[in-house]
Amino acid sequence: MLDEYKLTALHQGEALPLMEAFYSLQGEGYYKGSAAYFIRLGGCDVGCHWCDVKESWAAEAHPIVPVEDIAAEALKHSRLIIITGGEPLMWNLDKLTALLREGGARTHIETSGAHPLSGTWDWICLSPKKIKRPVGGVLQQANELKMVIYNNNDFLFAEEMAAQVSPDCLLYLQPEWSKSAIVIPKIVDYVMTHPQWRASLQMHKYLDIR
Ligand code: SF4
Repeated sequence: MLDEYKLTALHQGEALPLMEAFYSLQGEGYYKGSAAYFIRLGGCDVGCHWCDVKESWAAEAHPIVPVEDIAAEALKHSRLIIITGGEPLMWNLDKLTALLREGGARTHIETSGAHPLSGTWDWICLSPKKIKRPVGGVLQQANELKMVIYNNNDFLFAEEMAAQVSPDCLLYLQPEWSKSAIVIPKIVDYVMTHPQWRASLQMHKYLDIR
């Protein structure tokens, strides 16, 4: 149970539930292969059954850390900072992104878009989920649309979401990891017949890095 001080700090974006933070390579999407510092925030209410970070879901399981401390540590490592989760847009990210940008960093987010956008972003990677769809116009603001493919219906959902993004938004189809053997050949076929899409693999899992 969080005390009133921590709840107020969370609400105002002065502190955030920090699950982990680490320096690694971006494994997915347009920036794959780039060195980046990851800030993984706790808390997610989307509930994908195939989620590979279920330990992120309970926000109260993670320490509430002042955003000054999160930003200062991140800026020691990189000027490319990726905020992920969990679902990071459960929180007010205005102050954290302001601090990171003041420090000269690019701010990237990985989000399902299930909560309204906060923060100031150089790159928005949007990965919509059927069970809690994007809200508040984030589809039009996305720089890349990353659709996770678990079964054949997901191609239809991918097209539904792609019809709502800006013309400049990059389109990626990414296999759900446990279904890779079945889904990768389908993605390859789909991209060849729908070349506006690109295939995205979770490179960090092949490299066995975080
Ligand atoms: S939105 Fe992301 S963190 Fe949340 S359940 Fe789905 S895959 Fe997991």
